Amino acid sequence: MEQCLACGGGPLKRSAKPVSFSYKGQVLTYQQPGEWCGVCGEGFLRKSDKEATDPVLADFQARLDNRLSPTEIRRIRKKLGLTQKQAGEMIGGGSLAFRRYETGKAVPPTGTENFLRVLDRHPDLRAELPKEVAA
Ligand SMILES: [Zn+2]
Repeated sequence: MEQCLACGGGPLKRSAKPVSFSYKGQVLTYQQPGEWCGVCGEGFLRKSDKEATDPVLADFQARLDNRLSPTEIRRIRKKLGLTQKQAGEMIGGGSLAFRRYETGKAVPPTGTENFLRVLDRHPDLRAELPKEVAA
């Protein structure tokens, strides 16, 4: 068992704990996986623990900012029948861009976001995009 770096007590226990996140006066409470101290309540997060909740926080912020959320970006991409790589090459940002948008690691430029909104309402316009994209 590991010792807690905050209080020197412990042991740390792997579990998910409710955590609150505030943004623009709104509070989101979500389950955060991590190693939690049973004595002081301090949590220690691995990279994978943060990655598990990044999309949840990004969705929350996007909603309050009136932007497309990672979940919506994924939904629109799938509606268009595109892989992440194809979407990045055809719509913008490059082959890795949509992976970053859909995991909440990056926010798409306004132009890309607006184009996605248009394609969401008029998915037939997908046929206007070039089918083959130069590598
Ligand atoms: Zn502790």
